[in-house]
Amino acid sequence: METVEDVTRMRLVGGNLALDFINTRTGPPVGPPDDDVLTGYPELVAWGVYAGALTETEAAALRRLSRADPGGAHTAFARALRTRDYLDEVFRPLAAGHDPSAAVLARLRDDEADALGHAQLEPGNTFGWAWRGDHTLVRPLRPVVHAAVQLLTTGALDRIKGCGGCRFVFNDESKNRSRRWCSMDDCGTAEKIRRYVAARRTRATR
Ligand SMILES: [Zn+2]
Repeated sequence: METVEDVTRMRLVGGNLALDFINTRTGPPVGPPDDDVLTGYPELVAWGVYAGALTETEAAALRRLSRADPGGAHTAFARALRTRDYLDEVFRPLAAGHDPSAAVLARLRDDEADALGHAQLEPGNTFGWAWRGDHTLVRPLRPVVHAAVQLLTTGALDRIKGCGGCRFVFNDESKNRSRRWCSMDDCGTAEKIRRYVAARRTRATR
């Protein structure tokens, strides 16, 4: 039995599945990431369950499928990483107030068309897209791609922000749009401590 890296150590603070997918890499606000929980196909599936993109039953089916087709799982995982890269190139510029390139938006469109081609409309309060019948290895990516399009087409773009303390991106759902940190417990607190130490140092040198 392979051990799957614990993907639950990544906090889900993006407020959107696509942003949480981008946030599977950590690091400083600028520059290359310094950690990544997506280390293989099993981790992709585990993250899908953790983030609510897959049910446990769907995950079990995908694990069976990936064991039966390791090459296919490898290809699907490589596609997941490329998807995360271009989603990053869509939302990181937006967080900085710039439009993403037409090329990355075209890739998102193509993947959304592919995702919807494998989806069914299911009734609820409104009808929604579901991928219950999709038994392809890229199944974990479907709702991620769709969440990205949803956010771009129905969200408030000025609410898409980057954390001041790390590379996380999030959808600011606060009433007065004042959220600056991925989480007050982490980057918010780190910033408060930094300011406190700086103030004390200033007092000490006076
Ligand atoms: Zn942060």
